[in-house]
Amino acid sequence: MTEKQGGSDLRETQTTARFVERGAHGEIYAITGHKWFFSVPVADGFYTLAQTQSGVSCLFVPRLLPDGSANRVHIQRLKDKCGNRSNASSEIEYHDTWSILVGEEGRGIREILSHAHLTRLDFAVGSAGLMRQALSLALNHAQTRTAFGKPMAELPMQRNVLADLALESEAAMLGAFRVARATDGLQTSEHERLLARVATPVMKFWNCQRAPSFTYECLQVHGGNGFIMENPMARLYREAPLNSIWEGTSNMMCMDVLRAMQRDANCRDAFVDELRASRGLNPTYDRSTDDLADRLCARYPDDGHARALVTRMAHALQAAEMLRHGDAAAADLFVQSRLGADGAHVFGALPSSDGLSRIVARASVIRH
Ligand SMILES: Cc1cc2nc3c(=O)[nH]c(=O)nc-3n(C[C@H](O)[C@H](O)[C@H](O)COP(=O)(O)OP(=O)(O)OC[C@H]3O[C@@H](n4cnc5c(N)ncnc54)[C@H](O)[C@@H]3O)c2cc1C
Repeated sequence: MTEKQGGSDLRETQTTARFVERGAHGEIYAITGHKWFFSVPVADGFYTLAQTQSGVSCLFVPRLLPDGSANRVHIQRLKDKCGNRSNASSEIEYHDTWSILVGEEGRGIREILSHAHLTRLDFAVGSAGLMRQALSLALNHAQTRTAFGKPMAELPMQRNVLADLALESEAAMLGAFRVARATDGLQTSEHERLLARVATPVMKFWNCQRAPSFTYECLQVHGGNGFIMENPMARLYREAPLNSIWEGTSNMMCMDVLRAMQRDANCRDAFVDELRASRGLNPTYDRSTDDLADRLCARYPDDGHARALVTRMAHALQAAEMLRHGDAAAADLFVQSRLGADGAHVFGALPSSDGLSRIVARASVIRH
């Protein structure tokens, strides 16, 4: 999709495709143009966008032609990336490249974005996994290294940081898995279909947005060793920002959440119904979700409010899942620190209590 002039506004696609013939494989087009980001160029086939007579269309480009010879996909160079270095990303040119039309001509953006639901779910789940790996490394380090006469995990300030990271990791995982369950129910439940439509960009936005600051805190737990390339933390730290860029940036996700609710108010109602199912378990949660329901119905002059609103939606969905499926004390602390007045933007600012050791211990147990 992404060309030099931009990856967010796909209507500006400059690459062109010329109709050639209707053949045994479908409608054949010849593509000419340049793509600025083109990952996994070793793949057997690619979905791509190009302008045809009817507008931006989606085409399938096989790496090999039906006769087994190479298709004309010319790699100009590989990108030298700050992270994600095991996955090749390239810049390419198409020169009369053989391709097959996918879906309706001129409806390519809608077509290609219909595939994005699953990859966005992947990135919500993947960022939760990345956070859990970083947390496990941080816990292991803090529990096995001593300072001031104690394992570092028992120093009150460090314990607060670790407990807060443990809450964040659990909530990220539960939120992503709720979207996964909604995706499983796409064809069997109207509630799950509507929830999946709106909650997928919510959790793609939030988990991917949180991963960099989360891995940064886990890196800090390791002290200087965390910043050294042979430590796995350094790799997680370099990888963490990527999921919030590809398959739609954070701002694009927030825009998509608003779009889903504007096009179909049932999406908004499904989200609110989902939150209502956890009512009665925590008064702060009840107050906060009532307030959120009002904000979701309010009118705004533009999308300047979108990040603040979608952050609240993410916290609310995570809290609902924590209350329903998580440990009761951990869920209460999550609600208090994310939805209540104690909410802070820095890890390690939980109200100090004996319960923090329990949260750290709980996060240290590997469950199968
Ligand atoms: C490692 C890597 C691999 C990639 N692989 C691929 C690939 O295989 N295929 C592919 O197609 N792309 C790929 N991409 C590109 C990626 O999808 C784009 O970088 C991304 O979609 C953003 O496009 P852009 O870089 O052109 O940024 P721009 O579109 O120029 O946006 C820049 C910033 O402006 C913000 N912005 C834009 N419009 C608005 C708006 N209306 N309101 C508010 N904010 C706005 C964006 O959120 C972003 O933060 C890859 C990127 C990376 C880093």
